[in-house]
Amino acid sequence: MTTDKTPAPGLDLTVSCGYASDVGLRREHNEDSLVAADPLFAVADGMGGHEAGEVASSICIRTLTDSRVAGRSLPEMDPEELQELLVTADELIRAETGGRAGTTLSGTILVQEGGAPYWLVFNVGDSRTYRLSQGGLVQITIDHSEVQELVDYGRITPEEALTHPRRHVVTRALGTGSDIDADFWLIPAVVDDRILICSDGLINEVGDEQIFNLVTSFAHPQDATDALVQAALRAGGRDNISVIVVDISGGSLRVATDTREFE
Ligand code: MG
Repeated sequence: MTTDKTPAPGLDLTVSCGYASDVGLRREHNEDSLVAADPLFAVADGMGGHEAGEVASSICIRTLTDSRVAGRSLPEMDPEELQELLVTADELIRAETGGRAGTTLSGTILVQEGGAPYWLVFNVGDSRTYRLSQGGLVQITIDHSEVQELVDYGRITPEEALTHPRRHVVTRALGTGSDIDADFWLIPAVVDDRILICSDGLINEVGDEQIFNLVTSFAHPQDATDALVQAALRAGGRDNISVIVVDISGGSLRVATDTREFE
Protein backbone atom coordinates (compact mmCIF):
# COMPACT_ATOMS: atom_id res chain seq x y z
CA MET A 1 0.00 0.00 0.00
CA THR A 2 1.11 3.54 -0.62
CA THR A 3 1.40 6.34 1.88
CA ASP A 4 0.21 9.92 1.66
CA LYS A 5 2.45 12.78 2.67
CA THR A 6 0.76 16.11 2.35
CA PRO A 7 2.07 19.38 3.72
CA ALA A 8 -0.76 21.64 4.83
CA PRO A 9 -0.35 25.19 3.55
CA GLY A 10 -0.41 27.84 6.21
CA LEU A 11 0.44 25.48 9.04
CA ASP A 12 3.70 23.69 9.57
CA LEU A 13 1.99 20.34 9.53
CA THR A 14 2.78 17.08 7.80
CA VAL A 15 0.28 14.24 7.62
CA SER A 16 1.39 10.71 6.87
CA CYS A 17 -0.56 7.51 7.05
CA GLY A 18 -0.59 3.80 6.46
CA TYR A 19 -3.58 1.68 5.62
CA ALA A 20 -4.56 -1.89 4.82
CA SER A 21 -7.71 -3.93 4.42
CA ASP A 22 -7.52 -7.70 4.47
CA VAL A 23 -10.30 -10.20 3.78
CA GLY A 24 -9.02 -12.36 6.65
CA LEU A 25 -8.89 -16.14 6.74
CA ARG A 26 -12.55 -17.15 7.02
CA ARG A 27 -14.66 -14.76 4.93
CA GLU A 28 -15.07 -15.02 1.17
CA HIS A 29 -15.51 -11.29 0.59
CA ASN A 30 -14.05 -8.18 2.10
CA GLU A 31 -17.08 -6.09 3.05
CA ASP A 32 -14.98 -3.36 4.67
CA SER A 33 -14.15 -0.15 2.80
CA LEU A 34 -11.81 2.65 3.77
CA VAL A 35 -10.46 6.03 2.76
CA ALA A 36 -7.03 7.27 3.81
CA ALA A 37 -6.40 10.52 1.95
CA ASP A 38 -5.69 13.71 3.89
CA PRO A 39 -7.91 15.12 5.40
CA LEU A 40 -10.27 12.09 5.38
CA PHE A 41 -9.52 8.89 7.25
CA ALA A 42 -12.35 6.41 7.79
CA VAL A 43 -13.24 2.74 7.96
CA ALA A 44 -16.69 1.37 7.08
CA ASP A 45 -17.60 -2.22 7.96
CA GLY A 46 -20.37 -3.43 5.70
CA MET A 47 -22.88 -6.05 6.74
CA GLY A 48 -25.54 -7.94 4.89
CA GLY A 49 -23.55 -10.60 3.07
CA HIS A 50 -23.76 -11.63 -0.59
CA GLU A 51 -21.82 -8.53 -1.64
CA ALA A 52 -24.50 -6.23 -0.20
CA GLY A 53 -22.22 -5.31 2.68
CA GLU A 54 -19.51 -4.30 0.24
CA VAL A 55 -21.99 -2.09 -1.59
CA ALA A 56 -23.10 -0.42 1.64
CA SER A 57 -19.60 0.30 2.94
CA SER A 58 -18.33 1.53 -0.42
CA ILE A 59 -21.33 3.88 -0.89
CA CYS A 60 -20.67 5.26 2.57
CA ILE A 61 -16.98 5.91 1.87
CA ARG A 62 -17.74 7.32 -1.59
CA THR A 63 -20.19 9.80 -0.05
CA LEU A 64 -17.32 11.14 2.05
CA THR A 65 -14.81 11.19 -0.80
CA ASP A 66 -17.33 13.00 -3.04
CA SER A 67 -17.88 15.68 -0.41
CA ARG A 68 -16.51 19.19 -0.60
CA VAL A 69 -13.80 18.55 2.02
CA ALA A 70 -12.11 15.69 0.14
CA GLY A 71 -8.61 16.54 -1.00
CA ARG A 72 -8.51 19.85 0.86
CA SER A 73 -5.95 20.49 3.55
CA LEU A 74 -7.46 21.45 6.89
CA PRO A 75 -11.00 22.26 5.69
CA GLU A 76 -13.52 23.81 8.03
CA MET A 77 -16.35 21.43 8.79
CA ASP A 78 -18.78 21.11 11.68
CA PRO A 79 -20.52 17.98 12.97
CA GLU A 80 -23.90 19.05 11.56
CA GLU A 81 -22.52 19.12 8.03
CA LEU A 82 -20.92 15.73 8.47
CA GLN A 83 -24.17 14.29 9.85
CA GLU A 84 -25.93 15.55 6.70
CA LEU A 85 -23.45 13.54 4.63
CA LEU A 86 -24.29 10.46 6.69
CA VAL A 87 -28.01 11.01 6.06
CA THR A 88 -27.20 11.12 2.34
CA ALA A 89 -25.12 7.92 2.59
CA ASP A 90 -27.94 6.20 4.48
CA GLU A 91 -30.46 7.13 1.77
CA LEU A 92 -28.14 6.00 -1.04
CA ILE A 93 -27.46 2.66 0.65
CA ARG A 94 -31.15 2.00 1.24
CA ALA A 95 -31.98 2.93 -2.38
CA GLU A 96 -29.30 0.54 -3.63
CA THR A 97 -29.86 -2.40 -1.29
CA GLY A 98 -33.48 -2.04 -0.16
CA GLY A 99 -32.56 -2.04 3.53
CA ARG A 100 -30.89 -5.47 3.31
CA ALA A 101 -27.43 -4.08 3.94
CA GLY A 102 -25.81 -1.61 6.22
CA THR A 103 -22.49 -0.31 7.37
CA THR A 104 -20.67 1.08 10.36
CA LEU A 105 -18.45 4.13 9.99
CA SER A 106 -15.66 5.43 12.19
CA GLY A 107 -12.82 7.80 11.54
CA THR A 108 -11.65 11.36 11.55
CA ILE A 109 -11.34 14.45 9.40
CA LEU A 110 -8.39 16.75 10.10
CA VAL A 111 -10.19 20.10 10.16
CA GLN A 112 -9.39 23.60 11.29
CA GLU A 113 -11.32 25.84 13.56
CA GLY A 114 -10.18 29.32 14.45
CA GLY A 115 -6.90 28.65 12.64
CA ALA A 116 -6.03 25.63 14.77
CA PRO A 117 -6.10 22.00 13.66
CA TYR A 118 -8.54 19.55 15.19
CA TRP A 119 -9.44 15.92 14.73
CA LEU A 120 -13.17 15.78 14.00
CA VAL A 121 -13.78 12.18 15.08
CA PHE A 122 -17.06 10.45 14.22
CA ASN A 123 -18.68 7.11 14.86
CA VAL A 124 -21.74 5.08 13.94
CA GLY A 125 -21.59 1.41 15.00
CA ASP A 126 -18.70 -0.64 16.33
CA SER A 127 -15.67 0.26 14.26
CA ARG A 128 -13.28 2.32 16.37
CA THR A 129 -11.01 5.34 16.46
CA TYR A 130 -8.17 5.55 19.00
CA ARG A 131 -5.60 8.25 19.69
CA LEU A 132 -2.05 7.67 20.84
CA SER A 133 -0.97 10.77 22.66
CA GLN A 134 1.48 11.38 25.47
CA GLY A 135 2.30 7.70 25.71
CA GLY A 136 -1.22 6.30 26.09
CA LEU A 137 -3.63 4.74 23.61
CA VAL A 138 -7.10 6.11 24.28
CA GLN A 139 -10.26 4.76 22.65
CA ILE A 140 -12.11 7.89 21.56
CA THR A 141 -15.23 6.34 20.09
CA ILE A 142 -17.79 4.35 22.06
CA ASP A 143 -19.31 1.36 20.28
CA HIS A 144 -22.98 1.42 19.39
CA SER A 145 -23.50 -2.24 20.18
CA GLU A 146 -25.59 -4.46 22.43
CA VAL A 147 -22.54 -5.60 24.38
CA GLN A 148 -21.42 -2.00 24.96
CA GLU A 149 -24.85 -1.31 26.46
CA LEU A 150 -24.48 -4.38 28.71
CA VAL A 151 -21.05 -3.10 29.79
CA ASP A 152 -22.52 0.37 30.45
CA TYR A 153 -25.22 -1.16 32.63
CA GLY A 154 -22.63 -3.20 34.52
CA ARG A 155 -24.17 -6.48 33.38
CA ILE A 156 -20.97 -7.80 31.79
CA THR A 157 -17.30 -6.79 31.88
CA PRO A 158 -15.41 -5.46 28.83
CA GLU A 159 -13.56 -8.79 28.77
CA GLU A 160 -16.83 -10.76 28.68
CA ALA A 161 -18.02 -8.53 25.83
CA LEU A 162 -15.22 -9.90 23.65
CA THR A 163 -16.72 -13.41 23.66
CA HIS A 164 -20.41 -12.61 24.20
CA PRO A 165 -22.67 -14.36 21.62
CA ARG A 166 -24.29 -11.04 20.65
CA ARG A 167 -21.02 -9.10 20.35
CA HIS A 168 -21.60 -8.48 16.63
CA VAL A 169 -25.01 -6.83 17.05
CA VAL A 170 -24.76 -3.09 16.43
CA THR A 171 -27.41 -0.64 17.63
CA ARG A 172 -26.65 2.05 15.07
CA ALA A 173 -25.73 1.64 11.39
CA LEU A 174 -26.20 3.36 8.05
CA GLY A 175 -28.57 1.78 5.53
CA THR A 176 -30.50 -0.64 7.75
CA GLY A 177 -33.26 1.67 8.94
CA SER A 178 -31.81 1.85 12.45
CA ASP A 179 -30.52 4.92 14.28
CA ILE A 180 -27.98 6.77 12.12
CA ASP A 181 -26.99 9.53 14.54
CA ALA A 182 -23.23 9.69 14.79
CA ASP A 183 -21.30 10.69 17.88
CA PHE A 184 -18.71 13.39 17.27
CA TRP A 185 -15.63 14.59 19.11
CA LEU A 186 -13.58 17.67 18.24
CA ILE A 187 -10.10 17.09 19.64
CA PRO A 188 -7.10 19.42 19.32
CA ALA A 189 -4.56 17.92 16.92
CA VAL A 190 -1.12 17.90 18.49
CA VAL A 191 2.27 17.26 16.90
CA ASP A 192 3.25 13.60 17.22
CA ASP A 193 -0.36 12.45 17.59
CA ARG A 194 -0.99 9.03 16.12
CA ILE A 195 -4.56 8.03 15.28
CA LEU A 196 -5.65 4.41 14.83
CA ILE A 197 -8.90 3.60 13.02
CA CYS A 198 -10.00 -0.01 12.65
CA SER A 199 -12.86 -2.38 12.01
CA ASP A 200 -13.87 -4.98 14.60
CA GLY A 201 -11.86 -7.60 12.72
CA LEU A 202 -8.81 -6.17 14.51
CA ILE A 203 -10.39 -5.55 17.91
CA ASN A 204 -11.97 -9.00 18.21
CA GLU A 205 -8.67 -10.75 17.46
CA VAL A 206 -6.01 -8.61 19.11
CA GLY A 207 -6.11 -7.48 22.74
CA ASP A 208 -5.70 -3.88 23.87
CA GLU A 209 -2.20 -4.44 25.22
CA GLN A 210 -0.92 -5.99 22.02
CA ILE A 211 -2.56 -3.24 19.96
CA PHE A 212 -0.78 -0.67 22.12
CA ASN A 213 2.55 -2.49 21.79
CA LEU A 214 2.29 -2.72 18.01
CA VAL A 215 1.06 0.85 17.53
CA THR A 216 4.05 2.14 19.52
CA SER A 217 6.70 -0.19 18.08
CA PHE A 218 6.97 1.23 14.58
CA ALA A 219 7.99 4.72 13.52
CA HIS A 220 6.35 4.50 10.13
CA PRO A 221 2.53 4.32 10.15
CA GLN A 222 2.46 1.76 7.32
CA ASP A 223 4.72 -0.58 9.30
CA ALA A 224 2.42 -0.24 12.33
CA THR A 225 -0.62 -0.90 10.10
CA ASP A 226 0.91 -4.02 8.57
CA ALA A 227 1.94 -5.37 11.97
CA LEU A 228 -1.59 -4.95 13.33
CA VAL A 229 -3.16 -6.73 10.36
CA GLN A 230 -0.64 -9.58 10.63
CA ALA A 231 -1.41 -9.93 14.35
CA ALA A 232 -5.15 -10.22 13.59
CA LEU A 233 -4.43 -12.86 10.93
CA ARG A 234 -2.20 -14.85 13.27
CA ALA A 235 -4.96 -14.75 15.89
CA GLY A 236 -7.43 -16.37 13.49
CA GLY A 237 -8.54 -13.68 11.03
CA ARG A 238 -12.21 -14.57 11.47
CA ASP A 239 -13.46 -11.29 10.03
CA ASN A 240 -12.32 -8.69 7.53
CA ILE A 241 -9.55 -6.54 9.01
CA SER A 242 -9.16 -2.86 8.16
CA VAL A 243 -6.62 -0.57 9.77
CA ILE A 244 -5.56 3.03 9.23
CA VAL A 245 -2.74 4.72 11.17
CA VAL A 246 -2.38 8.50 10.78
CA ASP A 247 0.51 10.61 12.08
CA ILE A 248 0.93 14.34 12.17
CA SER A 249 4.27 16.00 12.59
CA GLY A 250 5.48 19.57 12.31
CA GLY A 251 7.18 22.21 14.38
CA SER A 252 4.94 25.21 14.76
CA LEU A 253 1.37 24.10 15.15
CA ARG A 254 -0.89 26.42 16.99
CA VAL A 255 -2.23 24.04 19.57
CA ALA A 256 -5.80 24.32 20.75
CA THR A 257 -6.68 22.95 24.16
CA ASP A 258 -10.44 22.48 24.25
CA THR A 259 -11.91 19.08 23.50
CA ARG A 260 -15.61 18.97 22.70
CA GLU A 261 -18.01 16.09 22.54
CA PHE A 262 -21.27 15.97 20.60
CA GLU A 263 -23.51 13.02 21.38
MG1 MG B 1 -16.33 -6.59 10.88
